[in-house]
Amino acid sequence: MHSRSSIQTWLGQGKRQMLSLFLAEPCPLCQRSTSAVLCSGCCRQVRQCQASTPCDRSIPDLTVLSWGRYEDSLRQAIGSLKYSGHTGLAQFLGTELGQTWLDHNPRSRAGAGPVAIVPIPLHPTRLQQRGFNQADLIGQWFCRLTGLPLHSRSLLRVQATQAQHSLDRLSRQQNLAQAFAVAPAQLKTLRQSTVWLLDDIFTTGATAQSAALALRRSDIAVEGICTVARPTVWETSTASKKTSTLG
Ligand SMILES: [Zn+2]
Repeated sequence: MHSRSSIQTWLGQGKRQMLSLFLAEPCPLCQRSTSAVLCSGCCRQVRQCQASTPCDRSIPDLTVLSWGRYEDSLRQAIGSLKYSGHTGLAQFLGTELGQTWLDHNPRSRAGAGPVAIVPIPLHPTRLQQRGFNQADLIGQWFCRLTGLPLHSRSLLRVQATQAQHSLDRLSRQQNLAQAFAVAPAQLKTLRQSTVWLLDDIFTTGATAQSAALALRRSDIAVEGICTVARPTVWETSTASKKTSTLG
C-alpha cells in the first residue's frame, strides 16, 4: 500500500506530466517541444519569409495583400496546417496577416461602407475530407486582431474543381468559372459592405477572380484579397505591371 506522501508525490508528478502535455507540444515544423504554436527557431524562420512590401502587385480589379512569400518555412507551415491538420498554425498565420492589414490599412481605399471578410470556401466534399477550411481558420484569427467581421458562410463552393496546379491557365479559368455562388441569406448584409476575400495562398489569381465574379454578379462590391502567402515570382500574365499605391 502507498503511503500518503508517496501518493501525493505520485499525484504531483502526474499533475506536472499533465501540465507538460498541455504546455510542451512538439513544434509542427521541427518536432522540438515548445509551449507556443511554433518553437522560437521556426517562428524566426517563418518570419524570414515575410514580404517587405505586402502589396506590390494587383490583378485586374482586385488588390492583393499578402503577408509573405510562398517559400521555405512559410510553405512548410501552410502545408503543415492544411495537410497534417496542425490547425494551431492558423493562429500564427492569421495574426501575422491581421497585423499586415492594420499596418497597411487598405480599408481606406475601400471607400464607403464597412469591410466584410469572406474566406474562400472549400467544396463540401473537400471540407469533409480535411475537416476544416484553412482560410476560415486563418480568417478567425485575422478578424480577432483587426475587429473586422468574418462572413464564413456567405460564399459557397458549388462545384468541385480539379487540383489547380495540374492545369494550365486557361483550364484553370474554365475549371473555376462556375465554382462559386453567394448564399441567398447573406446577400443583403454583403451588399451593404465592401468585401475582402481571404485565403491561405494566392497563386495565379484564378480562384480569387472567380470568387469575386460570383460576388459582383450579385451586386456585391469586392475590393481585394488578403492571403498569407503569394508566389515568389508572379506570373506576369495574370499580375498587372501597375505598382499599387497601397500603404
Ligand atoms: Zn520548430
